[in-house]
Amino acid sequence: MSNKFDVVVIGAGPGGYVAAIRAAQLGLKTACVEKWVNKEGKSVLGGTCLNVGCIPSKALLEASHKFHEASHDFDDFGIQAKGISMDVKKMVGRKDKIVNQLTGGIAMLFKANGVTSFEGTGKLLAGKKVEVVGHDGQSQVLEAENVIVASGSVPVEIPPAPLTEGLIVDSTGALDFTETPKRLGVIGGGVIGLELGSVWGRLGSEVTVFEAMDTFLASVDQQIAKEVKKSLTKQGLEIELGARVTATEVKGKEVEVTFADAKGEHKKVFDKLIVCVGRKPYTQGVLADDSGVTLDERGFIFVDDNCRTSVPGVYAIGDAVRGPMLAHKASDEGVAVADLIAGRKAEVNYDAIPSVIYTFPEVAAVGKTEEELKASNVAYKTGVFPFAAAGRAMTNGSTEGMVKILAHAETDRVLGMHIFGQHAGELIHTGVIALEFASSAEDLALMCFAHPTLSEAVHEAALAVDGHAIHMA
Ligand code: FAD
Repeated sequence: MSNKFDVVVIGAGPGGYVAAIRAAQLGLKTACVEKWVNKEGKSVLGGTCLNVGCIPSKALLEASHKFHEASHDFDDFGIQAKGISMDVKKMVGRKDKIVNQLTGGIAMLFKANGVTSFEGTGKLLAGKKVEVVGHDGQSQVLEAENVIVASGSVPVEIPPAPLTEGLIVDSTGALDFTETPKRLGVIGGGVIGLELGSVWGRLGSEVTVFEAMDTFLASVDQQIAKEVKKSLTKQGLEIELGARVTATEVKGKEVEVTFADAKGEHKKVFDKLIVCVGRKPYTQGVLADDSGVTLDERGFIFVDDNCRTSVPGVYAIGDAVRGPMLAHKASDEGVAVADLIAGRKAEVNYDAIPSVIYTFPEVAAVGKTEEELKASNVAYKTGVFPFAAAGRAMTNGSTEGMVKILAHAETDRVLGMHIFGQHAGELIHTGVIALEFASSAEDLALMCFAHPTLSEAVHEAALAVDGHAIHMA
């Protein structure tokens, strides 16, 4: 087999594997190098997202939501569901099965599309060569016309809370608890911390979330963030804002956390502690010293708007480069770069990338927040519609939250959509389409939405931008 390829991709997460499939579909001879070995010691594709990120966390979120619903909400519907219990090992086993199915599916897609898969660690050398060191230590060098680096990210660790087997864990460890901890501490009140806190909180853990910032979900529209905090607090999550964890001490099977807030220093004891303080780009051992590819001041691979690195023919995508650390952003960049290499026109619209927090209810957003518009002196108008006034939300027994649309005061162009409510992660795509197509709020208001659906709240919010929601006094 020749070791010469049109495209060699390093990393098979949602950035790398999508780029490799797309490049092969466009007729380019493509290889992908991936070093991930799962907990059973098997080489697997799919990266963080499929193995320890988006997919496993959503499997646990769904299971814990169903449990919580059956235990707390079924009664309202007239359903008698007594003596319900959760088999945590079975829940985690189901999660593992889904992960295996999906990672195996990518291996099949590679085969079907003719992507050559290399198991091992890839390193970009000078002259667009990629050295692959297999898990058996054997090394070979691939020659490439183009290289795409998609090496992803890893969790940030903090000195006051060093990971300690089974007690102080990162997000990966929190996906594999074998039983529900009675008292659970979560350091970091961001997306991952709130999702994992929700999983275990719904199963009965007493959850405390420590967030160093004074503002809850600072990057989320604050009208929405306030509602989310109220809701999560009602669900039992104790959210400590302005609380900086300064030390941890393992005492037998417990962890004592010391944290400081405006009132002074405090201590709290937990059975498990999850550290979720963010993720950092992973480039360790990926770039040879003379590869020519440079990093920015925060350790991300430096790229231009089209994911081109400082070396012609070498691209970088996904969590390893600037922009939101999201799977769909990584995949979009993967498609765009493969298209560029194949000589097609391509670009990622970074202004229309949705983000979702999979709490219950979900939080979803696309475009600008009200705070961002204020800060950049953009004149805007707002339309808000609460799910409490939506018939379908009532029939679903889920009336919390709202849809909020921000539109330009003069042109009426939709600048942002923010949703807190059941299925917000699905509903937000109306906003993505609106932003992508540069629609006005009136365009949305003039569309026909099916009744009764949650999407009608989007319609009503669009009508509300002009002050005329139908089902609101
Ligand atoms: P990764 O998925 O990190 O993949 C990089 C791959 O490169 C890895 O497989 C790694 O082994 C491989 N690699 C690195 N170096 C080398 C090398 N030298 N040689 C060979 N291979 C190498 N995002 C969402 O959009 N939605 C969600 O719901 C969501 N939930 C998440 C939940 C959790 C708990 C976590 C941790 C993350 C979540 N994310 C979510 C983030 C998402 O997982 C990442 O944004 C996404 O995986 C980034 O894709 P990537 O391809 O850039 O990198």
